[in-house]
Amino acid sequence: MKYRPFGKTGIKVSALGFGCMRLPLNSEDSGDINEAEATRMIRHAIDMGVNYIDTAWGYHREQSEPLVGRVLRDGYREKVYLATKLPSWLIHVAEDMDKHLNEQLWRLQTDHIDFYLLHSLNKDYWENYLKLNVFDWAEKKLSEGKIRHLGFSFHDDYAVFEKILNGYDHWDFCQIQYNYLDVEAQAGKRGLKAAAEKGLGVVIMEPLRGGNLAKIPAPRRVGEAFAKSPHAWTPANWSLQWIWNQPEVSLLLSGMSTMEQVEQNLTSADQSGVGLFMDAEHQVIEEVQQAYKGLAPVPCTHCEYCLPCPNGVFIPDIFKIYNESKMFDQMERGKRWYKAEIKPENQANQCVECGNCESMCPQHIQIIDWLKVAHNELETTS
Ligand code: SF4
Ligand code: SF4
Repeated sequence: MKYRPFGKTGIKVSALGFGCMRLPLNSEDSGDINEAEATRMIRHAIDMGVNYIDTAWGYHREQSEPLVGRVLRDGYREKVYLATKLPSWLIHVAEDMDKHLNEQLWRLQTDHIDFYLLHSLNKDYWENYLKLNVFDWAEKKLSEGKIRHLGFSFHDDYAVFEKILNGYDHWDFCQIQYNYLDVEAQAGKRGLKAAAEKGLGVVIMEPLRGGNLAKIPAPRRVGEAFAKSPHAWTPANWSLQWIWNQPEVSLLLSGMSTMEQVEQNLTSADQSGVGLFMDAEHQVIEEVQQAYKGLAPVPCTHCEYCLPCPNGVFIPDIFKIYNESKMFDQMERGKRWYKAEIKPENQANQCVECGNCESMCPQHIQIIDWLKVAHNELETTS
């Protein structure tokens, strides 16, 4: 196992962290974890040098934390740094913070959390936390030793990330979504660098974009780009090595579901290091990025020049959902995403064809026609 510095904490963490949100199941129910197999996988990873275990209140319908508590018995708790998260969506009054932390300590059978995150921060949760004086509370818990390091995980745009990063002087770490297709999304590369420059440890989540970047076979043109390299790496290994090559990254989390994935990731982590990528490897990733872009039917760059639509259509978000559904051949997932994320009054069928947006689009996209195509394929009757 390779170990990397965790910001300015002085702690060295394993390049690979175990994310406990996609553990093996006994049935379709995400709360029905296959405990024997999950225990075997997590303990094996720890035996092989993984020293960062990440869970959260809500993972596996609240069964992940209790399971991790049981897995870490028999001396395993002392071998790892344990990370969990305050569920931001359940914090309505100041007392909710204590209530959840105390319950988490009980579930995890421990007297302290090594790395405690404010979970999934966005603009609204951040403002709510400020209103509830979260830092007075967190500093008290730090001084009591119940939490050892404070950080946040993040899902919003870069401007919000910057605000949160600079909104508190004593963050120890943050956790961001990052992979070679999300270089500019959310915090992105800019956020990674800004956080590292401030001395924060940076934990990477979704390194394989929910498994999509690990698929075998990869889409044809993506596979052709990988095949140009002499490395016989799997698509997953390419994605992980690309992340580990960056010195600002402290560790990446993988939500492993099988022992085979654990073994593969352990092997990848052993090979990892800053400086592994030379020009030739960067060239391969650039070609892979272009190949994925070529699979997106609508050449929308999400620049938002077309907004606001006078009729409320969320043009770039609709194209993002449509493009991703096509790129990864996941129309059913796209339909669920469209229904969940875009309210009926903002959906593509609200377009009255006024043409305002098309005159603003620097990519000269035939927005009106593409909105019709996207809506036809994404709408659900249920
Ligand atoms: S053409 Fe449709 S999507 Fe474009 S601005 Fe007009 S109503 Fe909105
Ligand atoms: S202006 Fe064009 S490229 Fe920019 S977000 Fe709108 S549709 Fe996409």
